[in-house]
Amino acid sequence: MKPIEEYVRSIPDFPEQGIIFRDVTSVLQDADGLHLAVDLMQGKLDGVEFDVIVGPESRGFIFGVPIAYNLHKPFIPIRKKGKLPCETVSIRYDLEYGTAELEVHRDAIKEGQKVVIIDDLIATGGTNEAMIKLVEGLGGEVVKTVFLMELSGLEGRKRLKGYDVESVIAYP
Ligand code: 5GP
Repeated sequence: MKPIEEYVRSIPDFPEQGIIFRDVTSVLQDADGLHLAVDLMQGKLDGVEFDVIVGPESRGFIFGVPIAYNLHKPFIPIRKKGKLPCETVSIRYDLEYGTAELEVHRDAIKEGQKVVIIDDLIATGGTNEAMIKLVEGLGGEVVKTVFLMELSGLEGRKRLKGYDVESVIAYP
C-alpha cells in the first residue's frame, strides 16, 4: 500500500488562480486509499472517550460514518440550511467570499455528551469553529476534531485554540 499522501490528487488553480485544491475523490476511488484514510483517521481516536461523532455535509459524512460504524457510535449529520426535517439550531458564518449556514437537529446532541468532529480538511478553520459553536450551544463538549488533511499555512488551528485538533496529512 502506498503512503496516504500519494492517494491525494492536487489540482493547481482550482477553484481559483493560486489555490492548490487537495482532491479527496482520488483517495475514495481507490479501495486501498479509502481503507487507509478511514483507518488512519480512526487511529487518532485510540484511547479517546466519547459519545457521538458529528460530521458536516458532505465530505464529513464520507469519513464520519465509517468511523462511527466501526466504533459503534452514533453519527450526527450537520447539514446546509433547509435540509433537515425536524426542529433545528443553525449558525451563520463567514466564508472567504460571502456566508454559509449550517444546521443540526436540536435533539441530536444531549447535554453533557462528548463529541468528536470529523471532516476531510481544515483550511481557515471557519467551518469547524461554526460546528463547535453548534455542538456547544446544545450542551455538548467537543473532545476532539480529526481531519484527513490540514492546510497549515491558513492557520486554522489558531482559530481552534484550546481544542484538540489532529490531522493525518499536513500541507504547508
Ligand atoms: P475552512 O472552513 O476550514 O476554511 O474550510 C474547510 C472546508 O472547505 C472543508 O469542509 C473542506 O471540505 C473545504 N475545502 C477547502 N479547501 C479544500 C481543498 O483544497 N480540498 C478539499 N477537499 N476541500 C477543501
